[in-house]
Amino acid sequence: MCGIVAYVGNKPCQSLLLEGLKRLEYRGYDSAGIAVIQDGKLNICKSVGRVANLEDKLESIGNFSGKIGLCHTRWATHGGVTDANAHPHVDDRNGIAIIHNGIIENYAALKTYLEEKGHVFRSQTDTEVLAMLIGELYCPAEGIDLEKAVQAALREVTGAYAIAVICEHEPDTLVVARKGSPLIVGIGADEYIVASDAAAIVAHTTRAITLDDYNVVKITTAGFRTSTIHDVPVTPRIEQLELELQEIELGGFSHFMQKEIHEQPKALRNCLRGRTDVRDGRVILGGLGDHAKELTKLRHVVLTAQGTALHAAMIGEYMIEDLAKIPAIAEYASEFRYRNPIIEDGTVVIAVSQSGETADTLAALIEAKERGALSLGVINSVGSSISRLTDAGVYLRVGPEIGVASTKAFTGQVAVLTLITLFLARRRYMSADTCAEYLKALETVPDKIDQILTQNDRIRRVTEKYVDRENWLFLGRGYNYPTALEGALKLKEISYIHAEGMPAAEMKHGPIALINEGMPAVFLANRGRQYEKVMSNIQEVRARGGHVIAVATEGDEEIKRYAHDVLYVPDIPEPLSPMLTVVPLQLMAYHAAVLRGHDVDKPRNLAKSVTVE
Ligand code: GLU
Repeated sequence: MCGIVAYVGNKPCQSLLLEGLKRLEYRGYDSAGIAVIQDGKLNICKSVGRVANLEDKLESIGNFSGKIGLCHTRWATHGGVTDANAHPHVDDRNGIAIIHNGIIENYAALKTYLEEKGHVFRSQTDTEVLAMLIGELYCPAEGIDLEKAVQAALREVTGAYAIAVICEHEPDTLVVARKGSPLIVGIGADEYIVASDAAAIVAHTTRAITLDDYNVVKITTAGFRTSTIHDVPVTPRIEQLELELQEIELGGFSHFMQKEIHEQPKALRNCLRGRTDVRDGRVILGGLGDHAKELTKLRHVVLTAQGTALHAAMIGEYMIEDLAKIPAIAEYASEFRYRNPIIEDGTVVIAVSQSGETADTLAALIEAKERGALSLGVINSVGSSISRLTDAGVYLRVGPEIGVASTKAFTGQVAVLTLITLFLARRRYMSADTCAEYLKALETVPDKIDQILTQNDRIRRVTEKYVDRENWLFLGRGYNYPTALEGALKLKEISYIHAEGMPAAEMKHGPIALINEGMPAVFLANRGRQYEKVMSNIQEVRARGGHVIAVATEGDEEIKRYAHDVLYVPDIPEPLSPMLTVVPLQLMAYHAAVLRGHDVDKPRNLAKSVTVE
């Protein structure tokens, strides 16, 4: 969920820890804290708000100079946003400090047990329970050192965690562990940098150990030992981190979201490279090749995701039915999982997630696999939990997405779902010629997005006209109904304007009551099967005083008579159109947030990847 950075090595670590934490700021958080062992004593500093606040506080109390420490950005799940609830949490007996991402689900029962043992709690968090439990079990006299105490505590815990732990009495030892939350151990020269995200590590080293669930690593400057929570030794997997430093820097843009909107042409070229064979009208997806036989027999597709990824999945649903002629449904992972879903022979479940760590999607995937479905992943983060769990998958290859509001991952997800659809369609009814036509069109998407991006200034001016309105509608039909949902979500996420997306026809069934003088209604009105119907819906909004902003196909002059403002996108076959029509909506949301003075990359209450249910 939020950020973990920890260090053990031969240099004073405070600035390295804080610099790492800043690289994780994009993930969203509400408070931050640090613990460093210095001259055998644990030093702690915590603060609500930005890492910059923590730095100010450290400056005022005197910076820490120790060579072992840990720091955290918290995204509260249990207990309000206060200094006391910020991490690190410390036990009340042994000077043990812990930082934690995730949720300890059985914390209440453990807390009662520990209170009966006389422990006194100072926060409302689930994490403090883990600190006390490790402290309760810690007994060096009986051979239970920090590593063993952490293993023993984790055997009692249910839930999800990535943790880092240090102890005053073992001032050279850092113990880390994970289950269900990402954690990477970077191996430098005479130093180790542990983080929940490679972004905090790559400035120092690209050699890293990727941990599996239930792995515990004891690290000192002399080396490390990997085991399970049952103390069974584990051979560590040492890998090369592929992230490049420039990919996680702003490079001249004001915000990561802006950078990533503008990066979409390049990202999509990367995504498509080597995967389209226009000459033979076929799609090359190595990841699916091994399952070609099962995929030919498939009878039903379930796409499951949350948030923006669900909107991409909905477009996938339309495409798979329309072009591959296979019954398909897109569903919230959180709902799918708990509604006793029927998985029959021939069902394939496609999990869509940028991070590959989305807790709801992960849980839905596990449920589907248990019920016998073949599982595919449409994931951006290589090596993430979902990508490791699926039977096969297709990576987005759009590069790391730092902006909390997803943009290039969305277009990447739709591009990959298009490839998967055509891959499946070719194994059924679609001719090589038809497939070649779609692939040719797909290859034009990056250039066409480039064209849309040249209208950035105009889109900002149009946004400016409406930016003070508090309620917006986003309306579309068919393939662009999910685009309407995505446009509304983007606006909500970063500009905090209330926006609703819906099928344009649904408006008449209730929401039309909301329309009053000057209310902005954004219509996805590009040319397609339902163009005439969308025109009628535009008239209905205008008749009630609404202001229509239409996203339309270049060359459509007629629409200027109906819409107050028109934003044009190049022509493209309808199934591919959401990858174009979404771009003006992303830019509108971005400009609205900037014009309203919001910090686009740190939207309130949001975290980049939601790793709790
Ligand atoms: N559940 C913990 C808390 O509320 C950790 C939250 C996080 O992952 O940041 O403090």
